[in-house]
Amino acid sequence: MWWSKMADQANDSPIKFITPPGVALKDKTVDVEHINSVLQAFLVVAGLVHMHLFNSLLTVTSGKDAKHAQSSKHYIGNAIDLRIVDLPPDYQPVFILYLRVLCDRFHLALFDESNVPGAGHVHIEIAG
Ligand SMILES: [Zn+2]
Repeated sequence: MWWSKMADQANDSPIKFITPPGVALKDKTVDVEHINSVLQAFLVVAGLVHMHLFNSLLTVTSGKDAKHAQSSKHYIGNAIDLRIVDLPPDYQPVFILYLRVLCDRFHLALFDESNVPGAGHVHIEIAG
């Protein structure tokens, strides 16, 4: 895979990762600059598809930041949360299904937390 040749951690890269087209951050506390480069490559594709399908930005609600469960992969930059509840209810399953296909391609694991009270997102992490 082309992305497996990329640096393991964004930290190792001399190139600053810019939030890609089609992607928005929930607020300034959301850090996607220091997430795993596989998740960064994933975001580039996911943002474009979100824009094409829905004509709106894909919002990242958490990257390497925020408060999570103690063993969370967010702390080491191996997880992101993507907002789902801003889509019309009929479209949410479509985007989640699409994300599952994309996660297979990137060897990522997806956890649908869109029905968890106060969450409204899907959690995507490096598998394993
Ligand atoms: Zn998460």
